[in-house]
Amino acid sequence: MHELAVTQSILDIAVKEAQKAGNRKVTDINIKLGVFSGMVPDCIQEYYDLLSEDTPAYGAKLHFEKIPAVISCKDCGKESEIERFRLRCPECGGNNVKLISGRELYVDSLEVYDED
Ligand SMILES: [Zn+2]
Repeated sequence: MHELAVTQSILDIAVKEAQKAGNRKVTDINIKLGVFSGMVPDCIQEYYDLLSEDTPAYGAKLHFEKIPAVISCKDCGKESEIERFRLRCPECGGNNVKLISGRELYVDSLEVYDED
């Protein structure tokens, strides 16, 4: 159900931008999605289609670009990309690490229909 709230905030941004552009139709929304955000892209698109009805942002296609998960190790100072959710430094084996990216989800850019 978390996707629903996230989708609503994506839509709010899209509608605001559409209005700023003179109520043009939003065609594409580019979203950055951390691999550990726990969000399902298909699910967000589905909610989007439902929620955006009767708004200038209806019918936009959502594009998701994945952001890899990166941890920073406080013991050896290295930053490493991790594949699975395992907070352990691949360099030194320490677990004094911090997740510095991989959980984000935000609208990176969007495109509005250009009439000219
Ligand atoms: Zn380390």
